[in-house]
Amino acid sequence: MTTRAKTARLVANIEYRDEASDILDEPGDAAVVVRGVPRSFMMKCPDGCGEMLAVNLDGRTDKAWRLDMRGGTPTLYPSVWKEAGCRSHFIVWRGYIVWCDRWDNLEPPYDPLLEDAVLRLLTNEYQNAAELAYAVDEIPWDVSRAARRLVKRGIAEEGRGKLLDSFRLSGARMTSER
Ligand SMILES: [Zn+2]
Repeated sequence: MTTRAKTARLVANIEYRDEASDILDEPGDAAVVVRGVPRSFMMKCPDGCGEMLAVNLDGRTDKAWRLDMRGGTPTLYPSVWKEAGCRSHFIVWRGYIVWCDRWDNLEPPYDPLLEDAVLRLLTNEYQNAAELAYAVDEIPWDVSRAARRLVKRGIAEEGRGKLLDSFRLSGARMTSER
């Protein structure tokens, strides 16, 4: 069994996709293709299958992911799902690889202050974590985690189905404040 990478390591910026295979060796190694603007996020598949992933970052073409480099480590939004071959599904979050099919992932350190910031944004209507995050210039994965803590505390609730990862103030809280 191959060992899955726990971290994404940004090795370099490159000009063309072809350059990635020369500089990315280990699972989780990554490079950003930049020509004027970021075009793609190249990554040696973190599950160790040996394939090279190309994640589109260019909003002018096709479906595009957001790359956030705050803290000096890469975050991609939304998740990366390899639909052929190994079918890996994971998120890249502040340099950590968080596998969507397991519960024992390492995660970036938690900032409890964000919980208060997210609580101030919540209303009686469901709002998607990504929308909440971009409204306050935060990372969607950070906001999701903070909102889920609020859910655990009984202050917020998460939607189901299409409203998964959307949050609002919980009914209990509204009632108790009336
Ligand atoms: Zn793979």
